[in-house]
Amino acid sequence: VKNQGRDGYCFYAPEMSQRSAASQRIENVLRHALMHDELRLQYQPKVDAKLGHIVGAEALLRLYVQGEEMFTPDQFIPVAEDTGLIVSIGTWALREACMQARTWQREGHPISISVNVSPLQFQYAGFYERLDGILNETGLDPSLLELELTERTMMSGGDGTIRLLRRIRQRGVRLSLDDFGTGYNSLSYLKHFPVDALKIERAFVRDIAQDAETAAITRAIIGMARSLNKDVIAEGVETEVQSAFLRDAGCSHMQGFLFGAPMPPEKFEERLTINGNL
Ligand code: C2E
Ligand code: CA
Ligand code: CA
Repeated sequence: VKNQGRDGYCFYAPEMSQRSAASQRIENVLRHALMHDELRLQYQPKVDAKLGHIVGAEALLRLYVQGEEMFTPDQFIPVAEDTGLIVSIGTWALREACMQARTWQREGHPISISVNVSPLQFQYAGFYERLDGILNETGLDPSLLELELTERTMMSGGDGTIRLLRRIRQRGVRLSLDDFGTGYNSLSYLKHFPVDALKIERAFVRDIAQDAETAAITRAIIGMARSLNKDVIAEGVETEVQSAFLRDAGCSHMQGFLFGAPMPPEKFEERLTINGNL
């Protein structure tokens, strides 16, 4: 129905059917990966802006086919969302990340772990119960878990959203507002939803050194968040100049290639050891 023309005819541009063939292929690969344990998480360091050491990690999904990385998250997450597969995939990622964080905690590295949550996964009726089950099952200290929600995720939750967010926080889990600054309602979201932190979108960070307006907006966002007692995490930090700016502006944490790209857990563990976190 969506593609109906003015007179009720359907028009299929060649690129449209191509796209759906591509997404069909991704769907098959995703189903296969779920069944054959071919999904992986990589971990990107989150560092303390002042002290520079690793205090956490963001878990990011990777999809492998016969040992090779085939699609990027920007390609397969939308397909997973369209097909509903994101509910199983997201649950898998949450459990896997909690198990990993629990292992690191046992080994003397009590770092926090951040996991991305999709709208559909969040909306799903059993979300809280699954989360609670995973925490019980893995024994992870809930204060070491942080869920990253976007404006889109918050919007999808409907009337029950605030209640659900409160419940999650009462369980001891932290919440952060991801991709902050890109949505229409970022500011009102900060006021209405009980979150502990916000993550400044990469696009802002990219431009702060070149563009005075972006610099001013970013500084204002950080100042406002700090006055509301929220942590502020800058993502996509690639240069020393950006890092110095963000630190001076009052950012509490940073992520980005300057501190480390997402990496497999073994690599991350090496970083933790030299981090002096022992
Ligand atoms: P995101 O949550 O905004 O994650 C940050 C993305 O920026 C990651 O891309 C990361 O690899 C990349 N990045 C980190 N530092 C830098 C930097 O310094 N420069 C640049 N240019 N990029 C940097 P990635 O891993 O490809 O993931 C893309 C998106 O896919 C994520 O964006 C997130 O929205 C989604 N995603 C990834 N894993 C999951 C997951 O487990 N569940 C859900 N629902 N979404 C996920
Ligand atoms: Ca994120
Ligand atoms: Ca982002």
